[in-house]
Amino acid sequence: MPELPEVENFKNYIDETSLHQKIAAIQIAAPELLINTTIDILRDTLTGNAFEDTFRHGKFLFIRLQKNGFLMLHFGMTGDLLYYTPDKKYPKVYVLLIQFENGRNLAFSDQRRLGKIGLVKNVESFIEDRGYGKDALKISLEEFIVLFQKRRVAIKTALMNQKIVAGVGNEFSDEILFQSKVHPESKSNVLPLEKLKEIYQHMLAILQEAIEQNADRNKLEHYFFLDHRKEGLKCPECKGETKLRTIGGRSSYFCPSCQKLYT
Ligand SMILES: [Zn+2]
Repeated sequence: MPELPEVENFKNYIDETSLHQKIAAIQIAAPELLINTTIDILRDTLTGNAFEDTFRHGKFLFIRLQKNGFLMLHFGMTGDLLYYTPDKKYPKVYVLLIQFENGRNLAFSDQRRLGKIGLVKNVESFIEDRGYGKDALKISLEEFIVLFQKRRVAIKTALMNQKIVAGVGNEFSDEILFQSKVHPESKSNVLPLEKLKEIYQHMLAILQEAIEQNADRNKLEHYFFLDHRKEGLKCPECKGETKLRTIGGRSSYFCPSCQKLYT
């Protein structure tokens, strides 16, 4: 599932492939993904337009258009991008296809169709109106501590709440808490200051490394829960068994021996 590092990777991919090319036409195969716009408005806005640059906030990608604001993409659970020439193999199933005048195409595919496509006039207002928190790579330690000391929910739930800090999802939150040796059901507001600092530092380090490795999970094998998501595995630290529990509606993996529960 695309979290902050994957979306940063999509941002870099658009920057490398799709900027400054006139859009000849678009195809929309999944109108249910559109927010704040209609098929006609999206088609009118994008046709004849071009991508100028990109901006990421949390798991949202904003592509600045030459005119009329931004194209917003959210990748849901299964979103992916592919830029291709007509002679290359292309994805048969796409939700949005951008056809450039130079004959190349950018396909946005999303098998489970939980992503979003929209037009945004002003990125700051979009983020503010929806109440999203600061980006996980931009929030300061002080801001992080103030926000997490106030929350009386499980730390796992707080980390995944995009309105507190934007960008961390289910899989990265498991890894961050494993590295920090904090049980995912620990209450955010009772965690010692030192533990909150550790969580913050692991969050930055893991997200940054994942970006540097192009969000390639195969290169992140040394991160136990990013690599292995199964119950009953041997914890690399204590050799005890990993557990699976649903926390805040999400499947959470953890080691009950290494990760201390703070209540
Ligand atoms: Zn362990």
